[in-house]
Amino acid sequence: MASIGELFFAPLMRNAVERGYWVRSTEPKQQLLEVVRRFDLAASLHPFTRCMQCNTPLEEASRESVWERLPPEVRKKQAFRVCPTCRRVYWEGTHHLRMRKLLDWVRAQVPAPQP
Ligand SMILES: [Zn+2]
Repeated sequence: MASIGELFFAPLMRNAVERGYWVRSTEPKQQLLEVVRRFDLAASLHPFTRCMQCNTPLEEASRESVWERLPPEVRKKQAFRVCPTCRRVYWEGTHHLRMRKLLDWVRAQVPAPQP
């Protein structure tokens, strides 16, 4: 059986991975920052636009069109998006707010270049 070093570091050492990077930080928030900086991704962040299940671009949806699929506690929300492929429904809940705060922090640390 291959060791972890053989699985993860050997391909980097043989240049089999063209855009590999060894994340130094052990803290998830700092790891995200490292990756955004290393690959110059600040201008490429387009959060909440793709399905987390299948990566299809999300579409705006009316409350009425997704009503049966909503948990009762979120039916009063104002904005919904739906994945046209897997039909998953998204809304701005507590997870969304936590992610938005995290991404706002990333953007403050790594401002995107102005066009
Ligand atoms: Zn999907």
